Amino acid sequence: MGAPLDRSATWPYDAAGEPGPYSYARAEQPNAVAVEATLGALESGRALLFPAGMAAVTGVVLTMLPPGGTIALAEGSYYGHKQLFDHIRPWGVEVIEYDQTGAPPEGVDLILLEAPSNPMLTMPDFEAAAAHPAPVVCDATLASPLRLRPLERGCDVSLHSATKVLAGHDDLLAGVATVNDEALFDRLHLTRRLTGLIASADTAWLLERGLKTLEVRFERMESSARVLADRLTQHPSVVTVRYPGFGFLISFDAADGAAARQVEVGVESIENATSLGGTRTKIESRHRWEGDRCPEGLLRLSVGLEAPELLWADLEQALSRL
Ligand code: PLP
Repeated sequence: MGAPLDRSATWPYDAAGEPGPYSYARAEQPNAVAVEATLGALESGRALLFPAGMAAVTGVVLTMLPPGGTIALAEGSYYGHKQLFDHIRPWGVEVIEYDQTGAPPEGVDLILLEAPSNPMLTMPDFEAAAAHPAPVVCDATLASPLRLRPLERGCDVSLHSATKVLAGHDDLLAGVATVNDEALFDRLHLTRRLTGLIASADTAWLLERGLKTLEVRFERMESSARVLADRLTQHPSVVTVRYPGFGFLISFDAADGAAARQVEVGVESIENATSLGGTRTKIESRHRWEGDRCPEGLLRLSVGLEAPELLWADLEQALSRL
């Protein structure tokens, strides 16, 4: 059984007029506390829940980046992070994209890795990042804590869009930041309370339910992804396949943008939709969102829970029309 759903925004003080463990939901609420305990145990750290992956990274940047600071961002990583940092450039924030398979540039104030990166699927050099004097944050959304625990690889913060495989059913938005330094935890918690970057009780409750099946979902998705990555590699219409050897996300290139569009509208049971990590398999051409950050023919395939043979049959019929 999970924690009962408690949608209260406020709780009465005790008989002596003192606040109990919960008084106002912007500070703390029971369903978030319950799911944070589960998430913290998965990552060997202390977790803080946010209302989206983007809210988690916003909270981390507001807390850890000095005014006018520079962020080193993994090239080929989630495009929303780059968009956010460009958006806050008027506050003096600078962003430098770099190849995370090597050392981060000198002179930066915060490093944001992504393991593996979405959609280019590179893995960071953790040792090189940890040797840099700047704090290191790693978005491990695609790996999940089942395959990677960034705090054990020298990172200061582990980030997830819990919207994806942690929740797993495409029915909520959430984010999580996990740390193992008490002072940093307190500063992040204060940022969250003061900015109101708070997830609802319903979100926390649903996320907790999703986490109960994380392992079985992840293993099924991963074993299907391995089969599909292998078959895509052998298909004559596929130019490049990227798969890091684990996880549920593959990206592969058709010859050009027109071919990619033909494949994404040609699939029948696979959804042509954005996002990843859910029960249903999804495909989309990423160039429409990312522009020059990815090849025109790149298709991102998030493998879900369907039978791998059915998924392959669908991909094959769409590719055969090229
Ligand atoms: N990080 C990664 C790797 C993502 O793929 C996404 C969204 O696609 C995010 C962060 C942002 O998460 P959210 O959509 O929950 O704000």
